[in-house]
Amino acid sequence: MKVSELMTIMEDIAPAHLAEEWDHVGLQVGDLNQETERIMIALDADQRVIEEAVSKRIDLIITHHPLFFRPVQKLLFHQPLGKIVSLLIKNDIALFSAHTNLDIAVGGINDYLAELLDLRDVTVLAETKEEALLKLVVFVPVDYLDQVRNAISEAGAGHIGSYSHCTFAAPGEGTFVPLPGTNPFVGKLGQLEKTPEYRLETIVPASVLNQVIAAMISSHPYEEVAYDLYPTALPGAADGLGRVGSLSQQMTLNQLVHKVKKLLAVEGLRVVGEGEKQISRVAVCGGSGMSLLKEAQHKGAQCLLTSDMKYHEAQEALAKGIAVIDADHFATEGIFISRLASLLKNRISKDEITILTSEINTNPWRFY
Ligand SMILES: [Zn+2]
Repeated sequence: MKVSELMTIMEDIAPAHLAEEWDHVGLQVGDLNQETERIMIALDADQRVIEEAVSKRIDLIITHHPLFFRPVQKLLFHQPLGKIVSLLIKNDIALFSAHTNLDIAVGGINDYLAELLDLRDVTVLAETKEEALLKLVVFVPVDYLDQVRNAISEAGAGHIGSYSHCTFAAPGEGTFVPLPGTNPFVGKLGQLEKTPEYRLETIVPASVLNQVIAAMISSHPYEEVAYDLYPTALPGAADGLGRVGSLSQQMTLNQLVHKVKKLLAVEGLRVVGEGEKQISRVAVCGGSGMSLLKEAQHKGAQCLLTSDMKYHEAQEALAKGIAVIDADHFATEGIFISRLASLLKNRISKDEITILTSEINTNPWRFY
């Protein structure tokens, strides 16, 4: 398959528009048309990972952390970044990254952490984007009302809460004059035609607008479909970093720490808070998430599981009375690598495509 095809699949898993503005996600090195058969997933694109990819004849590496983060002034092959890029180019290996979009995506890293902790009633911890909702109004001849309604509903329009196919239709009269060069479904050239139509209206999230319009046009009998789109002030679905939810049963901080340590298979964790503190609600943010401490407390969490906590942040948490489990950055995100491999395998039916996970531990820390 082509690199571009794989990018389409990754877009389904972690849509690029979800990424934070400062982030650099997507194809970092390579060619959209390059054929790829062997894919490897890793947390970081460090030199050992690239060498592993070379030895395993990999065509495409998918990483969580982007290789390029700051503007590059020069690429010197005897320096770490230049060496990595030269290895990639010389071995025809493409590099793709899904970073904050993979953190934020539904079913991404943070949802996975919440799932591993068996959290209930999980919601977004810190909203980053709210989807725009549009009102779609289309005028449909009576006999085609059900057909058009079904088509736009199946394409993603008309979802309100747990209800689908939410539309409203009011009867009325449409008029038009077919002009020279047209091939009208009803009516005669140059004559005013009056026809019973329904004004069919529904709500459409901006992310599915194109597919809804395409479905509407292909299911509609008219040559020129009359429709309107209105912006609304309604709140759309919110995407964001981190997740917060309730434990299936209350436990002490020590019990939760024990559970996290086992789940993430780490040698040690740094913990802020009394061991006997009762925890019923937990916030999670894979990677560096201490900036979400306020949101975690605001949303009722007694504990935040994240990584990269600094000394003064730990003091602040202690003073605020919220516990923090500072797990390893590598562990909180690296745990998703095998999940990403299975998400890809589920979406790729071609037998010739091999998906591997890197065996290199790129964690810069070690316990002593
Ligand atoms: Zn990270």
